Amino acid sequence: IVDIGAMQAAHVRTNRRAPVQICSVQTLERRELPPATVVIVDEAHVYAGVISKWMQARPDLVFIGLSATPGRAGMADEWQDLIVSVTTRDLIEAGYLSQYTVYAPTTPDLSNVKIVAGEYQAKGAAEVMAQSGLVGDILQNYVLHGEDRPTLGFAVNVAHAKRMAEEFTAAGIPSAFVEARTDTLEREAIQNAFTRGEIRVIWSVRTMAAGVDLPISGIIDAAPTRSAMLHQQKIGRGLRKNPGTEDLKVWDHAGNTLRLGFVHELDWSTLPGGKREVVKVERKQPLPKECGECHFLMEPKVKECPCCGAARKVPNGYVETADGELVPLNAETGRAKVPTAVKQEWYGCLLGYAAERGYAQGWAYHKFYEKFGIYPASQFKKIQKIPTPEVRSWIKSRAIAAAKAREARRAS
Ligand SMILES: [Zn+2]
Repeated sequence: IVDIGAMQAAHVRTNRRAPVQICSVQTLERRELPPATVVIVDEAHVYAGVISKWMQARPDLVFIGLSATPGRAGMADEWQDLIVSVTTRDLIEAGYLSQYTVYAPTTPDLSNVKIVAGEYQAKGAAEVMAQSGLVGDILQNYVLHGEDRPTLGFAVNVAHAKRMAEEFTAAGIPSAFVEARTDTLEREAIQNAFTRGEIRVIWSVRTMAAGVDLPISGIIDAAPTRSAMLHQQKIGRGLRKNPGTEDLKVWDHAGNTLRLGFVHELDWSTLPGGKREVVKVERKQPLPKECGECHFLMEPKVKECPCCGAARKVPNGYVETADGELVPLNAETGRAKVPTAVKQEWYGCLLGYAAERGYAQGWAYHKFYEKFGIYPASQFKKIQKIPTPEVRSWIKSRAIAAAKAREARRAS
């Protein structure tokens, strides 16, 4: 047994002579910095001024930070190195974390919600999410598809969390809500009732988004965020395996997975720099796709819903790139964002066509502009290709359009 002391007023484990001391950040802030040679900081993605000060005051100490989501802006200025020992994907594949599926039963329109320091403004998001239609949808979805799963619900603010718990309870799904001010005894009573199955859904804002280990197999996300960290922390609550909760269903009513991606695809391999009060919004992977029939969210390249078998449709106003990414049609030019590889292919075909017809290379250069709205810069190689039928028919259609335009000009 290792001799461990707890630095807290009147704690049973208080033992100043123990070589290992456990201390909360709050206690640390109120006391003088204790002597140490190694400092281990848990949940290091949460900013703590006192840790920052400690690092600056004692550069001779070794600080080891632990986090599942080292994505807070400014972390690169505090920590010198990042070691990724294992990823969420690894842990799911190895069977240590639950398999999970995500549904987007409704996706809110957040286009009018203000973004402050990179994150949705809570007031605006609450106005959208607390609309009775949406509240009703969330309830109805759980009634129809919830399978009575022990579930955590995430709401935008305390009033929203309280209301959701009330609506669920009124509909016969015993629910509770927990906030930061809920005292320890009440929280324990709620968690015990939840474990016994007497409470089905616990609603909170962020209180339940960290450090909770309850048997959970459902997550209702009704709190839009632009923070991949928060997204991962919330879904992460349901990924821990407990007897009876080996798989997780996520009902994402906030558009978070469609906006930020599946949590097992998120990349935490780089410590972000920048100002710490700004939410980092970064994504490299193509986003998940929603099944139009059953709202199951599938991997980007999947063409058929693994859940209901429906063929996936590309929504209006979007086009799909070769790697499965949906990109909006550019509203200004009516042109879609096209991957470089596709443009390179076109440039080659246009050069090939020019060679066939004995046109100058400049012809291909201008046709490329006509097609994509940009000139083929030096990144594009001048490699002639045999024109594809698609390129040939496009050239033909442009020639016809040009002829018609000439005729129209002559007639006027
Ligand atoms: Zn489906």
